[in-house]
Amino acid sequence: MDLGIKGKKAMVCGASRGLGLGCATALAEAGCDVLMVARRPDVLAQAVDDLRLATGANILTLAADITTAEGRAAALALMPEPDILVNNAGGPPPGDFRDWDREAWIKALDSNMLTPIELIKATIDPMIAKGWGRVVNITSGAVKAPIDVLGLSNGARSGLTGFVAGLARNVAKHGVTINNLLPGLFDTDRIAQVVGAQAKNQGVSFEEAKAAREKSIPAGRMGDPAEFGATCAFLCSVHAAYMTGQNVLLDGGAYPGTF
Ligand code: NAP
Repeated sequence: MDLGIKGKKAMVCGASRGLGLGCATALAEAGCDVLMVARRPDVLAQAVDDLRLATGANILTLAADITTAEGRAAALALMPEPDILVNNAGGPPPGDFRDWDREAWIKALDSNMLTPIELIKATIDPMIAKGWGRVVNITSGAVKAPIDVLGLSNGARSGLTGFVAGLARNVAKHGVTINNLLPGLFDTDRIAQVVGAQAKNQGVSFEEAKAAREKSIPAGRMGDPAEFGATCAFLCSVHAAYMTGQNVLLDGGAYPGTF
């Protein structure tokens, strides 16, 4: 399917690995010019080399922390008026809410709520002026079904979700859509770390801990970041123009509700 976004400018945050890389890859394959942002230059450089080779796409890179004002300013200087914005950054650590002070909450809010809002604020008016724009926020299945130990994520991402629900309706008439993509369990470095820690705690091998997690998913496996990226690219396509303000859950059927 031609996604109709060849030549569009796409800013993808948290793009050197995992879900962000899946999104950057699918957008590059669709013919977009892509700005990939991540903190570690070596990992970013490797990802970009592979992607350029595979797609021949026009790719810009920025090694920066997108959760800082300086990082966002540098990204916007490289791509001031993206047509497509994919918001993503690392998730907050697990823990007990009794241990989280104000600083821990502000950090989580900065990463998973305020940074996406700042980037939307900086890019949405040019999208409105052009009469076309796409924003996709990578959030989490935890927004729909909270995960006990991830209270910082449950809270911060729900704040973003509520804000976006209102804004999406406000800008829909200008051809700008805003949607959230909610990952369940995807096979990324972050999840490998989580499963590794579980294996250590339970005194089992990594493979055993991974198999136990996968058994709880109706699809019987973790998701592939490429599947996540393909859904992101569809949301950014011309075909998804009538779809906005939605929370799209990609979890292999793990959420047990009818809706
Ligand atoms: P990942 O494998 O750790 O990849 C994260 C990517 O974001 C890397 O490219 C990382 O590169 C970059 N990044 C992290 N913090 C950044 C920052 N402050 N500024 C710029 N780039 C940053 O993580 P993932 O599994 O793809 O997850 C992506 C998001 O989805 C996270 O918020 C995660 O909590 C959420 N999520 C994931 C899953 C899952 O199953 N994978 C499930 C639910 C929610 P650098 O470290 O070099 O910056």
